[in-house]
Amino acid sequence: MARVYNFGAGPAIMPLDVLQEAQADLVDYKGSGMSVMEMSHRGKEYDAIHNEAIANLRELMGLSDDYAILFIQGGASLQFAMLPMNFLGEGQTADYVNAGSWGAAAVKQARMIGNVNIAADCQKDIPTRMPDAGEMKWTPGAAYSHLTTNETISGAQFKTIPETGSPLVGDMSSDILSRPIDYAKFTMIYAGAQKNLGPSGVAMVAIRKDFAEKGNISIPTMLRYQTHIENNSLYNTPPCFSIYMLCLTTRWLKKNGMQKIFKTNRDKAQLIYDAIDASSFYRGTAKKEYRSDMNVTFRLPAEELETLFIKQASEAGMKQLKGHRSVGGIRASIYNAFPAAGVQTLVDFMKDFEKRNG
Ligand SMILES: *Cc1c(COP(=O)(O)O)cnc(C)c1O
Repeated sequence: MARVYNFGAGPAIMPLDVLQEAQADLVDYKGSGMSVMEMSHRGKEYDAIHNEAIANLRELMGLSDDYAILFIQGGASLQFAMLPMNFLGEGQTADYVNAGSWGAAAVKQARMIGNVNIAADCQKDIPTRMPDAGEMKWTPGAAYSHLTTNETISGAQFKTIPETGSPLVGDMSSDILSRPIDYAKFTMIYAGAQKNLGPSGVAMVAIRKDFAEKGNISIPTMLRYQTHIENNSLYNTPPCFSIYMLCLTTRWLKKNGMQKIFKTNRDKAQLIYDAIDASSFYRGTAKKEYRSDMNVTFRLPAEELETLFIKQASEAGMKQLKGHRSVGGIRASIYNAFPAAGVQTLVDFMKDFEKRNG
């Protein structure tokens, strides 16, 4: 078996143990004679998977029963629209931090629904960054405030979560369960699964039940959070196999222990940032105090060198290091499942590449 070091930003690497367990159970899940893909979503085997996934997420985030944990299709992108459709009524304002491509994508959808105040705008800043504490201007009585905790494309990450004075909503697609965070500061958290939670096909939403109750009732049933809460995310057929893989991933996180995962993530990122800082050949693209521990972005002195770097890294088994098509450069996505040995391999390669081309 030849597994590569997959630095892809999403869909992203998953734990090998999880893939192998799924493989072992693929055609006959625990003696049921069926694959999870073939089962009724209302049967007892699937029911156990579904509820364990919810319980594990609740435990890992440390959230009480005041929150519902939901599985919704349509990715994080549908959440960009569902959020304002449910909570941004007429005469209200929602605050948005615009600090990168994903924040901007959320703003675009919200503007189709209602009034948006940009609490801070640093989307186009180079080096990329998050807004500083005093820079964000919150609307008193806002319907909610929205931020992207980690900008996957620019490689900038909020290190402290701001106090916004209104119900706080976080797009945590690319850094959920990767570092210590007080999740209870948020009224709602959402994340597409394909970065840090499992495969694509499902988004996790954790939402305060008292907030969801106040949602708009004159929108289509499937778009209401309340529908998914009342039906435990089983109003219609959920993406059963994606949720199963997410369940196995949360089990893997619990087995490893979050403190260990957090420390390993920190160490992995630091190793690459140290290599960048020790060199005048590589240039980090995010401001130091906002550097992401999940998506490490950097540039080389010339685009031709970047192309060569990506090509030679690929030949050496390090895949998907190309930066997002909108920004170029190099991006090493090193989510929870990415092994420390792969980061060391990248850093060794960086040093060698600089020697040969610097
Ligand atoms: C990937 C990503 C998205 C988009 O997710 P989809 O599930 O593809 O819709 C949104 N926000 C952030 C922060 C992301 O990293």
